[in-house]
Amino acid sequence: MVGHENAPKAVVLATRNKGKIREFTAAFEELGFEVRTVDDVVDVEEPEEVGTTFMENAELKALYYAEACGLPCVADDSGLEVDALGGAPGVLSARFAGEHGNDAANNARLVKELADVPEEARTARYQCALVWAIPNGQCIRATGTCEGLIQLTPMGKGGFGYDPYFYIPKLKTTMANISMEQKQTISHRGKALRTLVEQLRHTIIK
Ligand code: IMP
Repeated sequence: MVGHENAPKAVVLATRNKGKIREFTAAFEELGFEVRTVDDVVDVEEPEEVGTTFMENAELKALYYAEACGLPCVADDSGLEVDALGGAPGVLSARFAGEHGNDAANNARLVKELADVPEEARTARYQCALVWAIPNGQCIRATGTCEGLIQLTPMGKGGFGYDPYFYIPKLKTTMANISMEQKQTISHRGKALRTLVEQLRHTIIK
């Protein structure tokens, strides 16, 4: 069990993404934690994301920052898997077109590679791995998935990354065309976060 007796008072979020910070802060404050980000606590280099899976990357980041901060740390890794591309871009989602975080270039490559693939074969999913680690190396892990289809023309102005091209059949629209609250309810990250929080309630918070 991770830290059962002495529930830690603070948790550090290993992200600079403002959207993720907002989502994660709300969830952990509700559990009674004081939430900080890595930048509030230490000044260290980012670790290289050399993992071959989302979980490996989330775990290496959470362990690295828990050790550096001397506090429990939460890290996530997420991305898009497209079946017709053999699961690509996968862990390379942020740098599919080369440059890290260039959404326009990443989307242009995605559309180009799927141009000749019929709509029904453009099945895809967002995946999220989320890890809570403490400085002694123990971890709690959670995952979340969101299924969709890649469309070849963008729709909607919300979200980020591949969202304007990620069509959700159940909602008949794209991830960029729904509210942030709705995205939190159905998204890979929202699902992983709720699963992690549930596990924490049963291990640390009792
Ligand atoms: P990271 O987990 O923040 O490093 O995300 C890696 C990459 O996956 C991002 O740069 C996006 O390209 C993609 N990605 C992850 N989550 C989402 C999402 O919710 N919407 C759109 N793209 C996402």
